[in-house]
Amino acid sequence: MQKFTAQLSQKEEIADNTFAFTYIKPKGFAFTAGQYVVLDVDESRYSDDRPSFRSLSIASAPSDQDLLFVMRGSDSAFKRSMIASEVGDTVTLKGPIGHFVLPEDERQKIVYMGAGIGITPIRSMIREELASGSERQQMLFYSNSLPSCAAYALELRDISLPEYKCVNTMTGLKDNISEDEWAGERGFIDADMIEEYCDYYKQAQFYIVGTKSFINAMKDVLSGMGIDERHIKVDNFG
Ligand SMILES: Cc1cc2nc3c(=O)[nH]c(=O)nc-3n(C[C@H](O)[C@H](O)[C@H](O)COP(=O)(O)OP(=O)(O)OC[C@H]3O[C@@H](n4cnc5c(N)ncnc54)[C@H](O)[C@@H]3O)c2cc1C
Repeated sequence: MQKFTAQLSQKEEIADNTFAFTYIKPKGFAFTAGQYVVLDVDESRYSDDRPSFRSLSIASAPSDQDLLFVMRGSDSAFKRSMIASEVGDTVTLKGPIGHFVLPEDERQKIVYMGAGIGITPIRSMIREELASGSERQQMLFYSNSLPSCAAYALELRDISLPEYKCVNTMTGLKDNISEDEWAGERGFIDADMIEEYCDYYKQAQFYIVGTKSFINAMKDVLSGMGIDERHIKVDNFG
């Protein structure tokens, strides 16, 4: 597997406890939207009994100038080292890795389903579709607990492609939050929500990203709607 060194050019908290790391794209690093790398911190500021590397999806598109990774903070030494990193620090990237990529058939309809930080490879794919001016029918169901945790929800809502739609849903809003404060959907992605927004789901290829429990929940919903497993691709974050 190829190894690259990348230098941090920007770090930003983009949502609650959610950090975006922009790296200068190393010379010769080429990838396909949806792939991931194993990212190893070169000089860890913290250590614990776990390795200094993690699998991270590339959240930028191949056509973007820089490389972007986005992650939720935690108390692991890896995450703390990343969050403490400074512009100019370097990481080692192994990859790119993975087959969670767009279908070759440019007319294949797509339904993306992402929960929380699982949006990263989906963002890469949708931005690549935007860059190529894709005309396929495609839509995103993006689930978060609260708007303040929802990385890139507005960017993805406002993507301007002829046959693209985005449904943001919040699962943790209190009932007393008014429509002025949140005008999008509420509650878990279910069969009713999919049928309401997507009239082509029976011909779609589904791309599901998130934790194992989110993936299993979505698979159950789709199986209840008669969707064959062969039309479901998953990217399991663990
Ligand atoms: C293909 C792929 C792409 C991914 N892309 C992203 C991404 O874009 N952004 C992102 O944030 N994450 C992504 N992940 C997940 C990422 O690799 C990490 O696993 C995740 O972010 C958690 O990292 P962590 O350091 O917080 O926790 P980790 O230290 O990795 O721990 C993971 C879980 O195990 C538990 N745990 C840790 N140590 C122990 C122990 N000794 N005993 C019992 N339980 C323990 C922790 O509580 C936690 O729930 C991806 C994963 C995969 C496989």
